Amino acid sequence: LTERLQNALSGLRRKGKVTDADLRETMREIRLALLEADVNFTVVKDFVRNVREKAAGAKVLEGLNPAQQIVSIVNDELTAMMGESEVPLNVSDKIPTVIMMVGLQGAGKTTTAGKLALKLKSEQNARPLMIAADVYRPAAIDQLKTLGEQIDVPVFEMGTDADPRDIVRQGLAKAAELKSDYVFIDAAGRLQIDETLMQELADVKEIAQPDEILLVVDAMTGQNAVETAEGFNERLDVTGVVLTKLDGDTRGGAALSIRAVTGKPIKFVGQGEKTTDLDIFYPDRMASRILGMGDLLTLIEKAQKDFDEKQAAETMEKMKSNTFDFNDFIDQMDQVQNMGPIEDLLKMIPGMANNPALANVKVDPKDMAHLKAIVMSMTPAERENPDLLNPSRRRRLAAGAGRPIVEVNRMIKQFNEMKKMMSGMMNGNMGGMEQMMNA
Ligand code: GDP
Ligand code: MG
Repeated sequence: LTERLQNALSGLRRKGKVTDADLRETMREIRLALLEADVNFTVVKDFVRNVREKAAGAKVLEGLNPAQQIVSIVNDELTAMMGESEVPLNVSDKIPTVIMMVGLQGAGKTTTAGKLALKLKSEQNARPLMIAADVYRPAAIDQLKTLGEQIDVPVFEMGTDADPRDIVRQGLAKAAELKSDYVFIDAAGRLQIDETLMQELADVKEIAQPDEILLVVDAMTGQNAVETAEGFNERLDVTGVVLTKLDGDTRGGAALSIRAVTGKPIKFVGQGEKTTDLDIFYPDRMASRILGMGDLLTLIEKAQKDFDEKQAAETMEKMKSNTFDFNDFIDQMDQVQNMGPIEDLLKMIPGMANNPALANVKVDPKDMAHLKAIVMSMTPAERENPDLLNPSRRRRLAAGAGRPIVEVNRMIKQFNEMKKMMSGMMNGNMGGMEQMMNA
């Protein structure tokens, strides 16, 4: 989806003015792109009609050329289609909040239960209990127990011979005894939806009266994901969706159609196999991602998690007001180094995800150390005011850091470009973003 939409839109991005023919052509491409991504036909029709109407009726917005405006309308519509804003977990006003995980085998129910339990535990000091109610899949119970040990969350199980209905009844009694505030029911799945499974799940639902039925869907399964979602939702009236394996290549298609077809909010997304790889689903960010603008906000949020939030806010403010200096630069470098491989981070920056120049990029930690050495050689005044760095000062830096002068020059140039880009992006200036995309 991403590639096709991007092609359609990047053609426009390069133009200052859009003709009717351009618009028609673009809308055709967008329609095909969505259909190709298994988005439901009527949903696509509605979507295209909305965009076209809005594009035709749009007043010229300040600072945006017509092409950018279409991109922005498409972006808004994609966001709307996925539900505007994030939807929180349903929480009961008396403990425990019961969360039932349903979905096909291999979708990620067990993994997601563990991830969510861990998230609640670390963010709210919650005391979850997980109930092993999948008695069919070999080793399913062991998998949950191992996971429970890993994240230090108790698991209730009765082996594989017990009936899931009894397991759930007794598991809930156990939760009352432990005063658990969240209970996860790791229910069984199947390779395909069948009546026996649905009956069992309906019974479990009846017994457990869950506050939340999370349908776990593998984002990589395309149109099947949508059919599955419909099937489960019809029978169980789920309350939310978790889209897993978004760390794979496919992103977007399933998110678009599942929400539109079931009307149920996507609440979380799984982005990896680790127990911490679970994020809140933000429709606007997903829309930007689909449009290939990267995921700047996720990047910022990831950063915020890893270092002082206040400092991050200050940095944002500085980016915005264009007063970002070398002190911030060096802070950023330290933080970035704590955040994992820099090539992964770069890919989250708008326009970078699909930038072929980045495909094979490997940033050597040694290079980071060199950059840091150069910044360390600056005087406080120079750090705050990079414009002071005239040729003789640059030579001094090179000598101080023991690096060639070309490297100093290159770094200052990169710093200035970064600064320009940042202030452009932070101020919602599409021009700045576009500059990056074409960089
Ligand atoms: P279940 O049968 O629905 O309980 O599925 P599991 O939780 O056992 O997950 C099936 C496989 O998918 C496991 O190997 C998980 O590690 C993997 N998995 C689950 N969620 C994600 C995700 O968000 N990203 C990736 N890459 N793998 C995932
Ligand atoms: Mg499982």
